[in-house]
Amino acid sequence: MALYITDDCTACDACRPVCPNEAISTGDPIYVIDPARCTECVGAEDEPQCQLVCPADCIFPDPNNVESREELQAKYDALHG
Ligand code: SF4
Ligand code: SF4
Repeated sequence: MALYITDDCTACDACRPVCPNEAISTGDPIYVIDPARCTECVGAEDEPQCQLVCPADCIFPDPNNVESREELQAKYDALHG
C-alpha cells in the first residue's frame, strides 16, 4: 500500500530526496506522497526510507490503498522500466 503524510508534517524536506521513486513533493502546507509512485520502497530498499528519516514521525501506510508485494514490485518496474 502507498504511504501518506499526516498534518503533523513540518515540511522539513528530509523525506523528499530519499524516495527512490520521486513520489514525494512539496504540498501546501504539508508534503504529499503520490500513491501512483509509492511502492513502500519495494524494488529499491528493505523498508520505507521516508519513514526512516522523518523527524516528525508523520508518515503511515494508507489502509485505503492496499497492494500486494507483487503489485508494488510491478509498479516499481513500470516506473523504472
Ligand atoms: S515509502 Fe518509499 S517509495 Fe513510498 S514515498 Fe516513502 S520513500 Fe517513496
Ligand atoms: S520528513 Fe516528515 S516532516 Fe519532513 S517533509 Fe517529510 S513528511 Fe514532512
